[in-house]
Amino acid sequence: MTATPQQLADVLRPVKNVLLDFDGPVCSVFAGLPVPEVARRLREDLSAAGEEVPAGAEEETDPLALLRLISDARPDLTESMDAALVALETEAVRVARPTPGGESVLRAAVRSGRLVSIVSNNSGAAIETYLSEHGLSDYGAGVFGRAPGDPSSMKPNPRLLLEAMQAAGTRPDYCIFIGDAARDVEAGEAAGVPTIGYANKPGKDAKLTAAGAAVIADSMGLIAAALA
Ligand SMILES: [Mg+2]
Repeated sequence: MTATPQQLADVLRPVKNVLLDFDGPVCSVFAGLPVPEVARRLREDLSAAGEEVPAGAEEETDPLALLRLISDARPDLTESMDAALVALETEAVRVARPTPGGESVLRAAVRSGRLVSIVSNNSGAAIETYLSEHGLSDYGAGVFGRAPGDPSSMKPNPRLLLEAMQAAGTRPDYCIFIGDAARDVEAGEAAGVPTIGYANKPGKDAKLTAAGAAVIADSMGLIAAALA
């Protein structure tokens, strides 16, 4: 169940550093260039390079899961496939759909004197392209996308969250992570950071709660209001 404004305000009171997932809370990255198309083109790149698509990767429609699959099967192809995906993600963010209230969370956090760090399994280059195209480049204290050529850096690995906190010089008890997937909550837990589960689809609140989210919010606007 979604939190009351008071519950959100309580969770956010000690927070100095807002760690923000990108795909979901800020925008729908693949709203304009859908994931099956991105996955298809990634496989095409592989074939064009004279490589075979690894077993199990033929049907995968999630580009990040596909990158992981390819990397596991063929570590030697990780770097080139990650680079190909960065190009596709950068194309995708140009036609991404902004999340209602997502931009308001960025602005409200900064206006209230908090730092905002974007922590995402997407590529940092694509995220920076999006922020720049939406006039938001000055709102992020840092962008922490998956480490190029290293899909193991992706959440639920807490690595990117730890890097973000280290860069901002903040401690977990002064941070909150806002994410829309169970792996975000798991990464938060591993990093010692409580997570606000952004339940943007029916059924997600149960998944995020089960994963251990501190509170659930079904709208980014609600979080923005609590930050103000
Ligand atoms: Mg997400």
